Amino acid sequence: MMFFFLVGYGISIALVVLNKIEVLLAVTGIVFFIGALFVLLVVVTAKSDIERIKDAGDILESKNKELEKINTELDLFAYRVSHDLRGPIASIRGLIEIARSSKSKEENDFCLEKISSSTVKLDGFIQDILDLSRNSRTEIMIEPVDVRSMVMEVMDSLRYMDHDQRINVSLNGMDSLIVQTDPLRLKIILTNLIANAYKYQDCEKTASTIEISYSKDKGVFNFSIKDNGIGVKDEYKEKIFEMFFRGTDKSIGTGLGLYVVKEIVEKLKGKIEVKSELHEGSEFIINVPINGKASV
Ligand code: ADP
Repeated sequence: MMFFFLVGYGISIALVVLNKIEVLLAVTGIVFFIGALFVLLVVVTAKSDIERIKDAGDILESKNKELEKINTELDLFAYRVSHDLRGPIASIRGLIEIARSSKSKEENDFCLEKISSSTVKLDGFIQDILDLSRNSRTEIMIEPVDVRSMVMEVMDSLRYMDHDQRINVSLNGMDSLIVQTDPLRLKIILTNLIANAYKYQDCEKTASTIEISYSKDKGVFNFSIKDNGIGVKDEYKEKIFEMFFRGTDKSIGTGLGLYVVKEIVEKLKGKIEVKSELHEGSEFIINVPINGKASV
């Protein structure tokens, strides 16, 4: 540095002594111009480096938040899994003891009935956990899906829920609508939402209705499940999508169903919305990009 400075100083003195002021001015101008370019280059590089560091910081912060959320969910998950699995098991063991020491057929039948409902509950819980883990572990598989056939298949599997045959189901949508989506994930969404419409029907009403609508529009698959059931309280409309949240004492489920649905919809880059009025009914509306890639 010192060397360049001394050389420049020497050249300047020589030019002044030789009376070559114009050359001195030209050389000084060129040197200043190169210096300014150099400073500009340094500033631009530093700025983009700072931006890159800031972006990396933002990514780190959001990853941290994500990890914190996962950690909290994991804690809650471990607690609830042990609680929800051990509850029905403890009750089954108690009922077996009662049945063993009882000589009454009625009492035995009652115990068997209760044991059966506890195993259904356990099975539902394990199914929800499997759905959740499959959704996070497996890749999206896009295939053509015949929507109406899938809805019929799901309703068929849920028929046992309508003991009194009082539910009226109507379908709104093209007979042969084919969409490109992940069939397993779509089936889990439909099963959970339709099962909820069955579970949370309002038995005070003369008839229970479920309206299932679906359509395809501009690369998006839209569907909704609407019921005239018990409805959701305003303060619960966001909470019902949280892990293990049960919004009513009518719930005998795990409180995982809508959480699983929300996680799957997010994985498919879609959106879910609920419209509901207490004692009037609820509608769950879902929009999913048909190829599973685009954003709605
Ligand atoms: P679960 O049914 O096991 O309680 P979900 O996650 O499926 O768990 O639902 C969470 C809560 O949302 C339910 O406990 C219930 O209060 C409310 N809910 C879900 N679907 C409906 C519906 N169709 N009508 C009224 N309430 C509903």
